[in-house]
Amino acid sequence: MPQYKVAIVGAGPAGYFAAQALQNLQTEELQFSIDMIERLPTPWGLVRSGVAPDHPKIKTVAKVFEKVANEPNFRLFANVELGSDLTIEQLKEKYDAVVIATGSALGKKLGIPGEDLPGSMSAATFVPWYNAHPDFKDESIDLSTDTAVVIGAGNVAMDVARMLALEPSELDPTDTADHAIDALKQSAVRNVIISARRGPEHAAFTSPELRELPKLEHTNVVMEKADIDAALVRAGDAPEKDVKSNLDAMLLISEKEATSHERTMKFQFLATPLEIKGDDRVEEVVFQKTGSDETFSVKCGLVITAIGYEAASLEGIPYEKGKVVNTDGRVNENVYVVGWAKRGPSGVIGTNKSDAADVMKLLVEDLGTPKNSGDVTDVITHNSVVTQQHWQAINEAEVAAGEPVGKPRRKSVAREDLLKHAGL
Ligand code: NAP
Repeated sequence: MPQYKVAIVGAGPAGYFAAQALQNLQTEELQFSIDMIERLPTPWGLVRSGVAPDHPKIKTVAKVFEKVANEPNFRLFANVELGSDLTIEQLKEKYDAVVIATGSALGKKLGIPGEDLPGSMSAATFVPWYNAHPDFKDESIDLSTDTAVVIGAGNVAMDVARMLALEPSELDPTDTADHAIDALKQSAVRNVIISARRGPEHAAFTSPELRELPKLEHTNVVMEKADIDAALVRAGDAPEKDVKSNLDAMLLISEKEATSHERTMKFQFLATPLEIKGDDRVEEVVFQKTGSDETFSVKCGLVITAIGYEAASLEGIPYEKGKVVNTDGRVNENVYVVGWAKRGPSGVIGTNKSDAADVMKLLVEDLGTPKNSGDVTDVITHNSVVTQQHWQAINEAEVAAGEPVGKPRRKSVAREDLLKHAGL
């Protein structure tokens, strides 16, 4: 019975769905042993460090990941970094196939003057900061301004704006990082402006997320009815289903009576950012009214860009335009890619399931004679590898720490603390 060894690099949704697809493709004649390699001491990728903490339902997919991980043919090697702890060449040599599932961690840049001023940052920093990602624990996020501008009209921009505009005590029963809850409780931000360069009919928000907004209990959500009416005219009689559904949701928001809440989230459309200005830090953003020569500026002390992501490169893997160069997920020799690293940063978590399954079918088609070149443990020399058992100890410790304070978990942030829970 041939037993093939597959390494999956990256323990996020795409990686787990690839493992699940391989498990589903097994027959008596075709068996896999799957090793998942992850840079952080914790798995789950964006489910842990991306999904907004006030959306706990989306995180329930982690149960699927744990089911995959508890199959006897699966091993987790977390706290192991490709590049420093082992190389792609070593993986290619030891495994019949290597699957890259490292996502897109770098925030795209606007490329306008002032973007690097203090007070301007990417959602690729702000989101992992509030989600307790160890690499972002020391970010100092200055929330002493009354106005923040979030640039982008996608679901990440909406997550960021909501996190800034929620009454922070609403985050108490969530797994938001303690340091972020503390900072948000001290925050002076009362006006959050989400700024889209195109009209409402072109926004990348999805309608379930829009429909949630009027239900926010402590935040006044404002859209100008004139903006939505004009978009409805531009969209015409037969807009695509998603556009119609979005515009319907936006119309409801725009027709809702303004409330007297202290915190406001306001949508600004047809505003192309030209420049971020300020002497030592952000003081205002200059916009052009899209499609005209008119400019205007918004005074603010914080700008967060949420305009998409690019993949961070791994040595030995070809990249182009923020993605791994691939044909239907095939990269080269015995290397494959799945998820955002393959197709770019689009789609919801579930999109990765069919995507990974398609690539794993190709991987199976390409298999030759199984390799027999030793175990990966021959090359990983450090002794603080987080295995599935260690991760379970971390997971249990975090859940137990959350229980008395009514949280699903209380995340540890520092690598040392996470490793301590693991007994390492
Ligand atoms: P996205 O959906 O692609 O939205 C990116 C936004 O940035 C677009 O509105 C785009 O506008 C804008 N943009 C790009 N370049 C710009 C520039 N130079 N200047 C101004 N605006 C610019 O990306 P995302 O929000 O990062 O989300 C990534 C994926 O994750 C999406 O599929 C999203 O639905 C998903 N997600 C889902 C959830 C959820 O289900 N709750 C939560 C978060 C993320 P143009 O259209 O004009 O280019």
